[in-house]
Amino acid sequence: ARTFNFSAGPAMLPEPVMQQAQAEFLDWHGTGMSVMEMSHRSQDYMAMAHHAEQTLREIMAIPDNYKVLFVHGGASLQFSAIPLNLADTGEVVDYFNTGVWSAKAIKEASRYAQVNVVCDNHAMIPDESEWKFSAQAKYIHYTANETIGGVEFLNLPNVPEGIPLVTDMSSTILSRPIDVSKFGMIYAGAQKNIGPAGLAIVIVREDLVGQARDITPTLLNWQTYADNDSMFNTPSTYSWYLAGLVFNWIKQQGGLAAMAEHNQTKAYRLYQAIDSIDFYTNPVPKEQRSWMNVPFTLQDASLDSTFLKESKEAGLLNLKGHKLVGGMRASIYNAMPQEGVDALIDFMRDFANRYA
Ligand code: PLP
Repeated sequence: ARTFNFSAGPAMLPEPVMQQAQAEFLDWHGTGMSVMEMSHRSQDYMAMAHHAEQTLREIMAIPDNYKVLFVHGGASLQFSAIPLNLADTGEVVDYFNTGVWSAKAIKEASRYAQVNVVCDNHAMIPDESEWKFSAQAKYIHYTANETIGGVEFLNLPNVPEGIPLVTDMSSTILSRPIDVSKFGMIYAGAQKNIGPAGLAIVIVREDLVGQARDITPTLLNWQTYADNDSMFNTPSTYSWYLAGLVFNWIKQQGGLAAMAEHNQTKAYRLYQAIDSIDFYTNPVPKEQRSWMNVPFTLQDASLDSTFLKESKEAGLLNLKGHKLVGGMRASIYNAMPQEGVDALIDFMRDFANRYA
């Protein structure tokens, strides 16, 4: 039986997608082969890969002057690729620091460019009045959703115009509609809302491709992917295929507007439960609370292991918070059904009644 898996990533994937993948596993469309066994240069595979890109373009309404790249190395490799593609040594780049993932992006960018930290707080987004942009930044980077802290920019940050805005959307991409034209570059690791690990998506405005420094490794240069339909070398073929199935599923569900409604309702109910039961606390300011990752602590941390044991027995898996922050974390990506969140809320109420 399938459980409700609250892992932050790799995360639960939509059940119909998993069923389709299972049905096609050994024999994809009568070819007698698994997708895993196909050449990425075969007509069948290339058509499937192209269709996945087209579906993503459709559901995100990606303008024609943006390239969509299917890349290796997860979101973390883009931490290096971004400064290498967009800035020269010594040039200034602006980074928001709002948590663990921003800090990692900053650490890596600092190896290649001069980082100006716009604002610095690991638990929340500081007030706009405290943001300090540099005059000459080559780009501005922010982490749209801090997966560990559960802090999300629910609206586009108000940034100076004319400077490319770059965002790590790993744990929020496809959770709601966004206006892609506001961004220079968007990137996301696949293993939350897109598909299995081993793949990352880069969406980049055309004029930002082709400016990488000479020393940029070939496979970190976005142009390499753009010029070769992301097949300069062997891509993560199976992950790409499954991502295509997820994009189809999102489209069938009514696209990103439907995802947004579904996600907002789930998050609202869960935060309401946390706020209304004295036993639980979420530390994030209300207007910055993530729709995707909901951290919470128990009144008495010595009950954490009992909470985890009993929740697991109830079919609610992977609720342990990240080791840096402790407590619990419920990741409720697109694939988490409302029933999963309702079951968690029922469990939390019952647990509080028994132990408070
Ligand atoms: N950025 C964010 C916001 C993340 O949540 C993660 C992983 O959880 C990463 C980057 C790193 O992704 P990857 O493991 O694909 O490199």
